[in-house]
Amino acid sequence: VKIEILNTGSELLLGRVLNTHQQWLCRQLADLGYVVGRQVAVPDTALDIVTTVKEALNRSDLVIATGGLGPTSDDRTRDLVAEMLGRKLSLDPSIVEKICGYFEKRRRPLPPGTEIQAMVPEGAVVLANDFGTAPGLAIQVEAGRFRAAASWLIMLPGPPRELRPMFTSRVIPLLRQEFPLNDEFVCRTLKTTGIGESWAEEKIAGPLRHLTDAGLELGYCARPGEVDVRFVATGPAGRHQVEEAEGVVRGLIGSHIYGTDDDQLEQVVVQLLSKQRKTVAFAESCTGGFIANRLTNVSGASEVFLAGLVTYSNEAKEKFLGVQASTLTTHGAVSEPTAREMAQGAREHTGADFALSVTGIAGPTGGTAEKPVGTVFIGLATPEGTRVKKMSNAFDRETFKYVTSQQALEMLRQALLPPGT
Ligand code: ATP
Ligand code: MG
Repeated sequence: VKIEILNTGSELLLGRVLNTHQQWLCRQLADLGYVVGRQVAVPDTALDIVTTVKEALNRSDLVIATGGLGPTSDDRTRDLVAEMLGRKLSLDPSIVEKICGYFEKRRRPLPPGTEIQAMVPEGAVVLANDFGTAPGLAIQVEAGRFRAAASWLIMLPGPPRELRPMFTSRVIPLLRQEFPLNDEFVCRTLKTTGIGESWAEEKIAGPLRHLTDAGLELGYCARPGEVDVRFVATGPAGRHQVEEAEGVVRGLIGSHIYGTDDDQLEQVVVQLLSKQRKTVAFAESCTGGFIANRLTNVSGASEVFLAGLVTYSNEAKEKFLGVQASTLTTHGAVSEPTAREMAQGAREHTGADFALSVTGIAGPTGGTAEKPVGTVFIGLATPEGTRVKKMSNAFDRETFKYVTSQQALEMLRQALLPPGT
């Protein structure tokens, strides 16, 4: 299947918005076995949109266009496409009703321009929008109009929180129906943390050689604080190859694998805590509440998360966590004993089963020879006792926070694993 993605939006070309649709859609499609052959971004000008849609329809079986379906004057994709394809637009009253319901539910007045979003080109399939107003549209362009064969043009709304669920629930079924894949395609990602990609490769590449020689594709993707190990296989033996590879890798580096595919570490931690009916609290210094932020992004966090204390100053560490003044003067705020007392203090003050603490030097200033920038102590207080780890995370401040939060959450995850795993 020849697939092309067309992202519209002047903001993308002005560098105001990162084109995340390109990455997200390519990834979703690739995981299903559809590989995108070309991607173009264009500004919201009529000529650009029409020219690129035409070009794309000339050479591709499937064109996915994003953005420009909203109610404002720069949202022109629907109109331009209808005109270009010679399809009349007509008002779909059921869409109007749905949009009215959307605003009623949120107790907001109906904004102007609603009806534009309910205009549907002749013959188009309406892709309902469960998280916004403008529906998506799918049009089969007849054979002979641009090229000998027919093709599909799918238009999706710009906001990621609307586009993503619409793609998953409405576009994928359409793709499976219109472009069935003959070859079975299996893709599996193992999400690891606490090991580097070279180290992972060193451990697993040899033992997987018989499978990669037989056609299994093995890939690594390193990001701050984690490494994905990805298997892709096609053909009748594909599923078996991927399962076998997963078994081999779990046997070798299983303790570092926190999840699969789209799992996130914070989700896994919330699940483990909730399954074991345990609670957690955080005492954060250099991460500024970032660990609490990540955990509270997970639905169900309230069952397991009691409190997060952002104790940035020494006084706050003493006052809210009971860290000893003498500990701070003797060892410093960034030290093993301080991290230990922070974790213990958070556990005692909140009554949580587990408490994580972090204290470190994010930089770029504040480092010393003994404690260079990036030094961080992570404490974990559990019913069995308290442990502290020292890490060196010399990155920019934002990456520092992310990597440190990842290490802290991983320390907690390890403590929650049943013994012997
Ligand atoms: P709306 O009804 O909100 O106007 P729309 O379908 O007209 O939706 P746009 O106006 O193009 O879509 O974009 C809406 C929002 O989605 C903007 O905040 C924009 O920054 C974001 N957005 C659009 N395209 C992309 C993209 N390719 N990647 C990431 N964000 C995007
Ligand atoms: Mg818009």
